[in-house]
Amino acid sequence: MPEFGSDSSFPTEEPVCIGIDLGTTHSLVSVFRDGKPELISNAHGEKLTPSIVGVLQDGQIVVGSAARELRVTAPERCAWVFKRYMGQERKLKLGDKEFTPHELSSLVLQSLRDDAAAQLNTEITDAVITVPAYFNDHQRTATRLAGEMAGLNVRRMINEPTAAALVYGFHAREDEKNLCVIDLGGGTFDVTVMEVFEGTLEIRATAGESMLGGEDFTDRMVSAVLSGEDTQLELAELQQPLRVSRLRGECEKAKRLLSKEESCKIRLPDKDGNFAEKPKTYRLTRADFSRMCDPLMQRIAGPIARALRDAELDPKEIDDVILVGGSTRMPVLRDFVIDYFGKPPIIDHDPDEVVALGAAVQAALIGQDAAVDDMVMTDVCPFTLGVEVVKEFGGHMQDGYFKPVLHRNCTIPVSREEVFSTVAANQTNVTLRVFQGDARKVADNTALGQLEVKGLPPGPAGSPIYVRFTYDLSGVLEVEAYAPGGERFRTVLTNHVHQLSPAQIEEAKRRIDALKFYPRDDLDNQKLARFAERMLGELHPSQRQQLDEALDIYEDAMARSDREHFASAKDTLLMVLSSLGLDHEDL
Ligand code: ADP
Ligand code: MG
Repeated sequence: MPEFGSDSSFPTEEPVCIGIDLGTTHSLVSVFRDGKPELISNAHGEKLTPSIVGVLQDGQIVVGSAARELRVTAPERCAWVFKRYMGQERKLKLGDKEFTPHELSSLVLQSLRDDAAAQLNTEITDAVITVPAYFNDHQRTATRLAGEMAGLNVRRMINEPTAAALVYGFHAREDEKNLCVIDLGGGTFDVTVMEVFEGTLEIRATAGESMLGGEDFTDRMVSAVLSGEDTQLELAELQQPLRVSRLRGECEKAKRLLSKEESCKIRLPDKDGNFAEKPKTYRLTRADFSRMCDPLMQRIAGPIARALRDAELDPKEIDDVILVGGSTRMPVLRDFVIDYFGKPPIIDHDPDEVVALGAAVQAALIGQDAAVDDMVMTDVCPFTLGVEVVKEFGGHMQDGYFKPVLHRNCTIPVSREEVFSTVAANQTNVTLRVFQGDARKVADNTALGQLEVKGLPPGPAGSPIYVRFTYDLSGVLEVEAYAPGGERFRTVLTNHVHQLSPAQIEEAKRRIDALKFYPRDDLDNQKLARFAERMLGELHPSQRQQLDEALDIYEDAMARSDREHFASAKDTLLMVLSSLGLDHEDL
């Protein structure tokens, strides 16, 4: 069963550093061993762990495909796509418990860490975690916090397209090329333009949107079906959560099918999320779906053009277009690439796996593994970062203007100082407001936080204040300000989640630690129960009873943890499922 033999072990003095792709829809964990990156399977033997957290009736936590099963029948006790809310002070309700997005992410990270520990047979303390390139400071800090809450020492956060490029660079070190990585996952979109030569990977520009992904494509389909002429649903019916949640599952399947087939049929569930014996269906062609997604494709074109402009390259100067993320399987995206770049994309590596593999390569670079000693990688800061300033127009002071300190796509790590000045004589305090964006006025940019500078020495208006921005390799910004001879003020930007004091972080950690995970060894059995429960809803009423009974017996045996009894109950349940033509394996 274990995929790793005991002959290949890690040096004991260095802690093992795993790589984690913490995705919106799926997460993966990897390790660099024996000169190459490899993926680690979860308790179900799968490489992709759905980024879904569920709370079972008894309060125990399940993560991954067991939670995905639970979501269909009990969406109110599950959370998903919470990566979208990372960095926000929002609470998500799961049954009677409440979690912040970073707490939910920490549960996913813990589950991946446990998978790695089980497979590698060692304690895991260190990790490289990937983040969308277009994640801002709040989202990155929330990710680091999630890592800490999961008991991980986050050695580095790297941008997802950069991780993908590392794998490409790892395998094709001698190439000399301009590459464009397009990463469209479940909830985020990034584009990165880079140059590789002699083992050096130089990121030239990154752009993207952190609120655009495959889920939006599914949403388009769901709304089209719900508002379709033949569907004829009343407004109240559109808001029935079980109906919508089950239909979403059907649309997700249809979307994937349309990546292979020209057309498909979508079954329409009733208000309780169940299907009639001959359910009504909605027919959708690939061409229709592509047309529906036109507005989304336009949002994708913008950042690609911008990244190329920043890198000073024409589409035709790109040698290879690399696709990353599950949503790049959609034909509408591949057609777009051919149209835009004049060549088909390269799909050498599995678009689902390449980011996680890259995280392991990064871990090897940090650990100075001999297998990567000829590789060098440079990354960029994808945003323009600066502060609010006051401008004088005809003797009149007007605040609200943005002054950049770091320009987008500068190579990182970077540290730059700018001199600003006081506006009034003997001004003692300044509130430095920090923003991200390219707009002239701060109101149109994203506020990142502020730094209070106090106790300025007395002096005339226009006395200097030095402001230094430092952007590290993980993409975390530190701001420092001082007046000559005055105290230095420094902050790692603290606006949202990370305003937590160390004591509050400890408190949150304790709360998370107190949660009980459903036993890892038994997760597969839990998944089977949730699968059977979901299938009950798919069956015709006349077929239900047999499955219902088998499931009751199975759950009873699970609860009583009576091994012998359990084994036979499980066999029976599997047999009933298979006699109904419901195969657990081809989920
Ligand atoms: P993330 O990194 O954000 O978790 P992934 O790279 O795992 O995202 O991609 C997940 C997204 O890819 C989902 O929105 C899913 O619907 C979509 N997806 C996966 N396979 C296919 C396919 N065959 N056709 C279309 N979309 C797909
Ligand atoms: Mg991803």
